[in-house]
Amino acid sequence: MRHPSPTGERAVPREVTALASVLLAPNPGPMTLDGTNTWILRAPGATGCVVVDPGPPERGHLGAIAAAGPVDVILLTHGHIDHSEGAGPLHDMTSAPVRALDITHRLGEEGLTEGDVISAAGVEIRVLATPGHTSDSLSFMLVGDQVAVLTGDTILGRGSTVVAHPDGRLGDYLTSLRRLRDLGDVTVLPGHGPELPAAGRAADAYLAHRQARLDQVQAALTAGDTTASEIVQRVYADVDPALWPAAELSVRAQIDYLRERWHHLAALPESHHA
Ligand SMILES: [Zn+2]
Repeated sequence: MRHPSPTGERAVPREVTALASVLLAPNPGPMTLDGTNTWILRAPGATGCVVVDPGPPERGHLGAIAAAGPVDVILLTHGHIDHSEGAGPLHDMTSAPVRALDITHRLGEEGLTEGDVISAAGVEIRVLATPGHTSDSLSFMLVGDQVAVLTGDTILGRGSTVVAHPDGRLGDYLTSLRRLRDLGDVTVLPGHGPELPAAGRAADAYLAHRQARLDQVQAALTAGDTTASEIVQRVYADVDPALWPAAELSVRAQIDYLRERWHHLAALPESHHA
């Protein structure tokens, strides 16, 4: 539990690159690591800023974001509440529009989709569709001298992410990771955890991890496991049980992926059976 400081001091964004600073939201947990990273983007000397993922609707956190403003526009990497729930209240505080792929998260006229280029606060942001963690997951490329990519939950600063079955799909996720891998030595500004020096290496490690898990899931099926929860207990035995419900979603996504690729393996369990 955090307490407001007696002097009423606000958290100040930590500068990560010349264009990007981060405010850590006070929502740590097994799924959110240290908390959600709220990114504040602006060119040196620009007055306004772009806010990516306001995080939870926590007063002190939203106040710190607003104090870093004026806020020109709020972007969401995806709709999960630990990224998006503060967007409505921040919109009320700042009048900044909220842009997201999922129409239910938008506030304002404009959507957000693959290929869009946003020019605001002196920065140029290109939108990459990177579905897989969820179907609405986007990444944001900061172009110019200070190239970086904001990856939301598609690549985290440490650990691995969940393929949130049934909305998230493993085949999409692998395609998105390959796309991020092609960015090479671009700084990763993730939705949780510390920044990473190179998208290429980070995506490579994620792809290797996914393949290893896929091999383990296949082995578990071959060994006779018939439910996602049995597979989790076998394959994720080394992982904190607090993460098992999330792991079960990833296992279901993996079973779906295997089913789609090997139709002749009709004996694979239905992913929606517990
Ligand atoms: Zn998420």
